[in-house]
Parts: sequence; structure tokens; C-alpha cells
Amino acid sequence: MKTESLTQLLSFLDASPTPFHAVDALRNRLNAFGFEELLEQESWKIHPGSKYFVVRGDTSIAAWIQGTESPSVTGFRLIGAHTDSPNLRIKPQPDLNQHGYLQFGVEVYGGALLSSWADRDLSLAGMIYLKNKTGKIEGHLLHHREPLLRIPLLAIHLNRDVNEKGLVLNAQTHLPPVYGLEDNEDSGKGIHQLLAGMIECQAEDILSYDLSLYDTQPASTLGQNQEFIVSGRLDNLYSCFSAVEALLEDQHTPSPQTRMAVCFDHEEIGSMTTQGARSSFITSLLKRLNQENDNDAYERSCARSMLISADMAHAVHPNFSEKHEPQHFPQINGGPVIKINAQGRYATSGSSEAVFEQICREKEIPVQKFVNRTDLSCGSTIGPFVAGNLGVPTLDVGSAMLSMHSVREMAGSNDVGWMIEAFRGFYTRPALD
Ligand code: ZN
Repeated sequence: MKTESLTQLLSFLDASPTPFHAVDALRNRLNAFGFEELLEQESWKIHPGSKYFVVRGDTSIAAWIQGTESPSVTGFRLIGAHTDSPNLRIKPQPDLNQHGYLQFGVEVYGGALLSSWADRDLSLAGMIYLKNKTGKIEGHLLHHREPLLRIPLLAIHLNRDVNEKGLVLNAQTHLPPVYGLEDNEDSGKGIHQLLAGMIECQAEDILSYDLSLYDTQPASTLGQNQEFIVSGRLDNLYSCFSAVEALLEDQHTPSPQTRMAVCFDHEEIGSMTTQGARSSFITSLLKRLNQENDNDAYERSCARSMLISADMAHAVHPNFSEKHEPQHFPQINGGPVIKINAQGRYATSGSSEAVFEQICREKEIPVQKFVNRTDLSCGSTIGPFVAGNLGVPTLDVGSAMLSMHSVREMAGSNDVGWMIEAFRGFYTRPALD
């Protein structure tokens, strides 16, 4: 285990309660290593061997090291992940006042495990859009660190059969968190007043916001030998982190092929957004990196490329092993898990699997395989969309974890190092078989 990577990962998770913050943290890290930020609205002069990144919509980011050869000759080595995680979002007119409690209405973003959000010390984070003094619109990042909100569970005395029947939460009526009582002078001033106090602006200057709830408990290691890591948003900030770290580790080694980590927002809601994996973000970017005037340079570069879709995998759960395919029990700290699905919910093919298998064998990294039980429907990733869009061979891979989509998830401390090492092998692989 590389403890330095683990420490970096834990602080990245804590700094990134929302995709806005994840992109901001990655931008800061890339800037510190001399990557140049390019803007989509400007024209680009790309130099072979130089390091760049581009952000779309403040929540998707791509970082790359331009190859010393043209992409049409050596292709792209792409690793894709996603910056978003299931959570609860503040509604546009959220102010509720019920039985003396001040509350906010929330919407569910993605496939959140709702019960895990109850009885946690929650707070607010995201982007607030303001009118500044010159009348321009300005985005203001909010990361309120103090615990502010809670979704209280109903006492068992009022819900006697909850342990037998399971906790059922109605998303409209049972989720609004409480943040105060109606008994003081600030009562009922509402979201704009509260936000204005947090970011020191006038409430009337707030135009709009994208705000989420998050769990204030910091990321941590856990277990008798700290073999686990526990945090919100491991799915999929863990993979964003691994993809970018692998790029940074070999940034001083020139390579003929262009190496790129791309982290998309909106995977958890289907990717069909301005900056999602089904948008033009990746195709327009790759087209711009082919500097030749040839009409078919982009197509030739794609035909020489490969994509790894990096997203978390389900470790076998010791108390629910019957939910797993009995021949495929991925273990935490057992190494990267290749994800395979006959219906194409994962983009892995035998040939992309072979490339990754070979990289891991050369580096003596253990590899595991995952398939869903045949009688259960399978999750998906950005892999199939980007694979179809670009037409490049793609592999779905991720580290094994438990409690996926819970407010606090669990993965392995050792797997981070394995994954970064495998990604380094992929980025630096000069020719694809
Ligand atoms: Zn995911």
C-alpha cells in the first residue's frame, strides 16, 4: 500500500462534497503540477509533450499529456470516470415550516440508498449564482462545514414492525431534513437568507443555486489493520482520483501516445446532459487534439485508441453472499475487478480484457472478475456510452466496495495503490495489441 496515495485520496474525498468541488480540487492539483487550463471557447495551440486540462460546466474535467507523436499515429489512452454521486438536492423553493420545525424540501439525485441518509449529521455544499456589483453573474462555491441538517428516523415505538418489514421512506414526505426551530428571531427567513449569511452576500443578489446535502463525517480508514476506507462518494471519486494520480505519476516520462483522464458529471442520472458522458465533451475534445488538416485524422486516432471506464465494483457481502454469482466473489483489497456483462451494460470485451489482464500480469497486480447473477439486472457505467460514441475498444474496471450508493461507503485501503499501478501500465503502454 502506498500510504501517500491513501492520504491524498482521503483529503480529496473530504474536499469534494459535490462535483463542483471535485473539479475544483482536481484543477488545483493539476495547476500545481504545471498543467495548463484550456478554455473550450478559445482556439488552442497544442504542443507535443505538453500537459493540459479543460473543464466543462464546472463539473466535468479532462486532463491529458499530449503525446510526442500525433494521436492519429499512436491513439489515445483514455481513462474515464464520474464526478457525481447519488445524493439529496435542495429544491428551488425549499422552505418548509411544519409543526415548529424549519425544513427544506429535497429531491433525490440518482439511485441513493435513502435510509443511509437518516440520522446523519448533514450539511450543505454546491454552487450559488450571484449578481455581482457590475451586474455580471458569478458562481460562488459553498462548502458549509458545520453540521446543519438532519433527517430524523421515526422512533421504533411509533414504527413497531420496521425491523421485520424494512424501512420504507417516501421521497416526498419523509426526507425533508430539519435545520432549526421556529422559536427565534431568524425563524422562517428561508434558504436565501441562510445562504447569504454563509457566503456574506445580500440575499437579493442570489439568482439561483445547485446545492446538495452531504455527510459531514470525514473520510477515514477502518478495521483492525486499517484495511478499509470509509467515506461518502467513493463511487466514483475513488476512480477519478486513481485516473488522475496515475497520469501525474508518469508526467515527466514522455510518451508517443496521448494519455488522458476524463471525469464526467451526471453518470448517476443517465449521462445525457451538457457535460455528461453522452454529450459532445469527449468527441469535441479528441477532435481538437488532432492537429493535422487531414479529414480522417480523428477517425484514425480513435481506431488506435482504447478506453478504460473506471467505476466501482461490488465486493462480495459476507451477510448477503447469495446476491452474488457464486463463481465470482470479488474481494476487498483483492485487486482491480474487471466487470463483464453479456447484455453490454459493461463495455468489456474479451480483447479489451486481455490487454488489461496482460498489463496486470506484467506488473504482478492481482485481477478479479465480476459478473452479476444471471437472474438479477445489472448496473451500468459511462463505458458503453463512450465506447459507442468513440468506437474504441473499452474495458470496465473498478475497485471492490460495499455499501454502494450509501451516504457512507466502504472500500479497501490497498486497492487504491493496485488501481493506480494498473492505470500507469495502461497509460504507458506504447502499442495496443
Ligand atoms: Zn459509479
